[in-house]
Amino acid sequence: MLLSPDKDPMGRAILDRATTGQAGRLRVFSSQFEEDELPVGQLFRTYDEMPALEQRALQEAKGRILDVGAGSGCHALALQAMGKEVCAIDISTLAVEAMRLRGVADARAMDFFDEMPMRPFDTLLMLMNGSGIVGRLDRMSAFFRQVRRLLAPGGSLLMDSSDLRYLYENEDGSLDIDLAADYYGEVDFRMQYKKVKGDPFDWLYVDFGTLAHHAAEAGFRAELLQTGEHYDYLARLF
Ligand code: SAH
Repeated sequence: MLLSPDKDPMGRAILDRATTGQAGRLRVFSSQFEEDELPVGQLFRTYDEMPALEQRALQEAKGRILDVGAGSGCHALALQAMGKEVCAIDISTLAVEAMRLRGVADARAMDFFDEMPMRPFDTLLMLMNGSGIVGRLDRMSAFFRQVRRLLAPGGSLLMDSSDLRYLYENEDGSLDIDLAADYYGEVDFRMQYKKVKGDPFDWLYVDFGTLAHHAAEAGFRAELLQTGEHYDYLARLF
């Protein structure tokens, strides 16, 4: 389902920045964390400003590429500059408007989980904690069904995420996690930009082992391509 523009703080912030060159504060709330802020400029990072994991993902992406949850189009633009063929989708019509203004040649307002009558892709790209869009672990099988539908034979999904265990780790290495509770990477967020308030949404951070387990259940293999500096990693699923 697409976001309604009056409930799309991030999209509004992205479009503001794309049209005026600046944006106000994008505030992030969560029942698990303290109030935080997402610097809007970060969503507009150039290739050189991207973390190494993302640069690696762009290098690995090949053939017909689908950038899922493309935001401001930063990765799509970098891929176009590399001469690659990319389609960018987002549930934010405001973000899609910004992407078109910024020169993304094929930007479409679409939900990854909706029926998408599209030709299959050689690479699915999900970056900036790309696993977030899955929402919760119990949506993994629906997620992989959709990946299967969208991937051409021999294609792969490139996704980054991070293991949130460091948030619950004691100095002696033991964990402060209630094993009977929900998976520790299942987070809820809500955003606000100026007077625009978004609805709360689920956002999944997943450690590589758990991802590989769910991938295997869906008939996919998971390969750890690269690890980052803060429990983050880039995976390939095929
Ligand atoms: N990949 C971009 C943006 C990350 S923010 C970057 O790295 O900068 C996550 C984006 O995913 C948001 O723009 C949000 O609107 C979009 N999104 C969330 N759920 C989605 C879904 N089901 N299908 C497509 N896009 C989605």
